[in-house]
Amino acid sequence: MTFRSETAYDQESTDESSITEVESSREETATGHFATSEIVTVYVGKKRRAYRVHRALLVSKCPYFRGSLTGAFPEGRNNEVYLSKDVPEAFSWFLTWLYSGVVNVIETKQDACIAFETYLMADRFITVELKNDLMDAVRRFYARTRMGVELLEVLAKHEGFEGKLKSFGLDQLAYDLHEYCGKIDLDPYMPSSPVRSAINAFLAEGSSTAIDTFWAVRNWAFRDGVDPSILEGCYYHEHSSGSPACKFCS
Ligand SMILES: [Zn+2]
Repeated sequence: MTFRSETAYDQESTDESSITEVESSREETATGHFATSEIVTVYVGKKRRAYRVHRALLVSKCPYFRGSLTGAFPEGRNNEVYLSKDVPEAFSWFLTWLYSGVVNVIETKQDACIAFETYLMADRFITVELKNDLMDAVRRFYARTRMGVELLEVLAKHEGFEGKLKSFGLDQLAYDLHEYCGKIDLDPYMPSSPVRSAINAFLAEGSSTAIDTFWAVRNWAFRDGVDPSILEGCYYHEHSSGSPACKFCS
């Protein structure tokens, strides 16, 4: 299930006709406790794509909205929220999870980039359950796909983020480079593969993320770690192993 507005990703969307009424295919949407909830209009991105969402769901699932919609902020009183720095596709993925309880399947690296943006959005929404579900989906995808530069480029747009997604991404990239590009070559600047060429170009930009990537790849040689994507259980989740809050532990 996906949620899409009537406009393209990067088209301006401020008029009422473009507003997307968010509906769930699940029966509980029609009969559940939030079906009679007030509706909040959430404007996402610089072009203000509009989504209409049940207020009760936002408040019950996300501490961020609990604060912004139930506090003294003007937007809470008007049932309007503005997320100008967020990506509309990521908010659509968030809504899929909010209404269905599951995250979209990641089939391509473009999907993966949306999943990364959704994770970073969930981080700001303080929605840990969604972050952990996204982490599982991301790991399933990279169990069959080599990590490229895609996550680094997303992280570079969000410098300062130090969560589990970054930990997994750098670990997986380091593992893939060492596993598939030759364990004897410890120098990530060696242009021995197309992946390395892309990584080298990213490293040459000299960003904080690039520096972290350089050291993650170099230090992996001394860790002798297993493939991060196939570790079982709560690796890269945001709780200690054994938490009753996680499906892997219940
Ligand atoms: Zn867990």
